[in-house]
Order: sequence, then C-alpha cells, then structure tokens
Amino acid sequence: MERVDVAIVGAGHGGAQAAIALRQHGFTGSITIIGDEPEIPYERPPLSKDYLAGDKPFDRLLIRPAAFWSERNVRFLTGQPVVAVDAAGHQVAIADGQMLGYGTMIWATGGAPRRLSCAGHDAAGVHGVRSRADVDRIIAELPGVERVVVVGGGYIGLEAAAVLTKLGKHVTVLEAQNRVLARVAGEPLSRFYEAEHRAHGVDVRVSVSIDYITTDNDRTTGVMLVDGTHLPAEMVIVGIGIIPAVAPLIAAGAQGGNGVAVDAQCRTSLPDIFAIGDCAAHVNAFADGATIRLESVQNANDQASTVARAIMGQAEPYHAVPWFWSNQYDLKLQTVGLSIGYDQLVMRGDPAARSFSLVYLRRGRVIALDCVNAVKDYVGGRALVVQGMVIDPAALGDVETPLKTLALEYAG
Ligand SMILES: Cc1cc2nc3c(=O)[nH]c(=O)nc-3n(C[C@H](O)[C@H](O)[C@H](O)COP(=O)(O)OP(=O)(O)OC[C@H]3O[C@@H](n4cnc5c(N)ncnc54)[C@H](O)[C@@H]3O)c2cc1C
Repeated sequence: MERVDVAIVGAGHGGAQAAIALRQHGFTGSITIIGDEPEIPYERPPLSKDYLAGDKPFDRLLIRPAAFWSERNVRFLTGQPVVAVDAAGHQVAIADGQMLGYGTMIWATGGAPRRLSCAGHDAAGVHGVRSRADVDRIIAELPGVERVVVVGGGYIGLEAAAVLTKLGKHVTVLEAQNRVLARVAGEPLSRFYEAEHRAHGVDVRVSVSIDYITTDNDRTTGVMLVDGTHLPAEMVIVGIGIIPAVAPLIAAGAQGGNGVAVDAQCRTSLPDIFAIGDCAAHVNAFADGATIRLESVQNANDQASTVARAIMGQAEPYHAVPWFWSNQYDLKLQTVGLSIGYDQLVMRGDPAARSFSLVYLRRGRVIALDCVNAVKDYVGGRALVVQGMVIDPAALGDVETPLKTLALEYAG
C-alpha cells in the first residue's frame, strides 16, 4: 500500500488552499489530494454567476493551472471518492478499491446539495447547483427551457434567478420562510432583494410550501404548491443548502453530526485528522462563541492556513473575520462579520439609491455589515467588526461620516 505524508480528501477550495499553504510554509513531504470530481480544484462562486451566464469559460475558474500543482509536487487522484477511513491504521479506502496510507489527513469535502424529499424530486430537469457538472447540465438544457422555478431564496438561488432572467427565462423563486435570505440577513436586505428581483421580472413568492414536482415521462413539467397552485416549468433549480459530506469520518468514529466537530486548530476527535471548510463545525468567536459551519471561500481558505500552520508546528487558533460576497444584476453585496443574534440594526444610506449598508450590533458592539454597492463602507467598516467596537448608532447611520473615520475616532 502506498503511503503519503499528507492526504487531503476533497479537491475544492479548502483542499487546494491547504496544499498551497503547506508548500508556502516550507513543507517538503509528499501531498496527495483525493477528489471525487473529475476536475482539479476550481472556484465554485462563479457557478451561479459568470459561468452560468456563459461569461467565463471553465479554464478561468481553475484555482491554479495544472502546471502549478506539478511544479510543487502536489499529486491528484481525481474522480475517486474516499469511501472509508481507518483512523487507527492511518489509511483510507478509495472507491476503486485502492487503499492509501497517510501520516496526516485533511478532510475538506464540502457538502452535497440538499435535495427535495417530495415526489418528483429526482425527475429530469430538477437540478442542484454545487459542481461544474451540475451547471453544465443546466446550461445544456437551457435552450429548451422557457420557465424556471428556483426553490430556495438564499444567495445561490437568487444569483441563479438573476442570471436566468437576464438570459430571457421566466423565473419564479419560491421561499418557504416569509422573506428571502432569512437565514443570513436582516429584513431590510431581504425586502431590498425581493424588490430588485421583482423589478427585473422575477416572480418572488415567500411563505410557500411545495407539495410535489409534476412530471411527464419522468421529466419535470412544474411545481405543485400545497395551496393547489401549479407553476409550469421546464426546469427546477433547488438551492436549499447542503448536507456536509462527512459520512466516512463519522463512521470512523469522529465526533459530529451536522458536519464534523473540530477544535481551534481544526483537529477532529480522530488522531492526525483535521477538517476544514463547509464541513467543519467549529466554535466561532464572531458568532458569539457558537458552534457553526460556515459556507464561504474565506472560511475554507483561512481554515486551510490554520491547519498548515498546525502541521508545521506553528499552531495558532482559527480567528479569522468572516466575509462573503454575492453578485446579482449590477448589485455587489459584500458582507463582513456574522449577523447571528443581532439586537440592533442601523441603516446607512438609502436602499432607493441602490447603494447602502446595514450595520448589525449585539449588546452595543458592531458585529457585522452588509454593504450593497458600498465598497467604502465594507473596507472602512471591517475594523469595526474585527474589534467589535461600541459606536453610537446615530454616528453609524450618518453617511457623511466615513466608517473608516469612526473606526479611527473610537479606537483613539
Ligand atoms: C454555486 C455556488 C456559489 C457560491 N458563491 C459563493 C460566494 O459568492 N462567496 C463565497 O464566499 N462562497 C460562495 N460559495 C461557497 C463556497 O464555494 C464554499 O464555501 C467553498 O467551496 C467551500 O470549500 P470546501 O473546500 O469546504 O468545499 P468544496 O469547494 O465544495 O470542495 C469539496 C470537494 O470535496 C469533494 N468530495 C466530497 N466528498 C468526497 C469524498 N468522500 N472523497 C473525495 N472527494 C469528496 C467534493 O465533490 C468537492 O469537490 C458558493 C458555492 C456554490 C456552490
């Protein structure tokens, strides 16, 4: 059986960055990345944005070109899921029957898109949006599609809705909660995006429940709502979150449930196995110490760097400020911090001007910012979140005072 010094499971954002960071820190041992997709690591955010729109070819999505990896002696086993982990024996089983031994393992498997459970959920024309293959299937079907129902008013669903509307499709967004983005943002942001989508011709419906997917010969013909409304559609896109891909680790005895539990250095409860990215349930200081999973490029990359440092004997606890972005139409949303548990919300600017920010506070401290077409607020306000500054809400709402100035004033 072959043995490598570091086996990285999952060839996505976290896996790629872990290998990059290890080499940057001078790690000279052998590294193998085992991924179940056929591609070497590529960026996922464009999948619901420029790539779906046809504005960015796949080769521009690659996190690094193939030559980068061979120059750094990072080996790939692609198209090969890891199916079992023998933690005591320090080896993994790969789907083709191969076993691979390791000194240290980094589990960076992200998650699979959550599927609907109703009748018709697996009909042709029903798609998730997680991988290049998912989006290639959507793109291939689009010429025969006039109407699309997007299930889920989260960032991915809304981004897909924006692109498909621009491509001339008639799009309906269905959200079970009473507003879009309910899980991640304050109400003013939800209402702003609902209004924007409606202004672009998207039929946004909130507080709706799906009964089943209607089909003809196993191909979707639309969505039947619980209230009896039928929405005809040739395509249904499901964006209702992910299920962390941790089954082999949990079966091997790792602690976890919704993801795999990790400590401040991203160590799992199993010997010499770290976990990072979307699948890693960690205590996050920016979430008031709650145990959460973050689904963002920032988190995958920063946790990868935390693990690389730990492997190199320079362990530092993970303490990176969360940030995220979303592009819809000509709107660039940038967020910093986590608004979980906010008790006060300050509007900075006017949504009607399509450039504004929401400042979230908890017990008087600034904990997060959502900035729409407001790069200056995002850049200047970052320090407020990092330091959890206590700032007069009236000052935060005054657009004449840059957030950078407030950060300096209150720090001094
Ligand atoms: C459409 C879309 C848009 C997004 N937009 C944004 C955005 O605008 N901003 C942002 O910050 N984040 C965005 N995200 C989230 C971001 O892409 C993820 O947070 C990030 O990819 C997480 O990295 P990861 O390494 O944890 O997982 P991934 O990048 O998903 O990589 C995990 C890899 O492991 C593979 N794998 C799973 N199980 C196994 C196994 N058993 N064996 C081998 N391989 C396995 C998976 O197939 C995948 O290739 C978006 C995600 C999607 C899907």
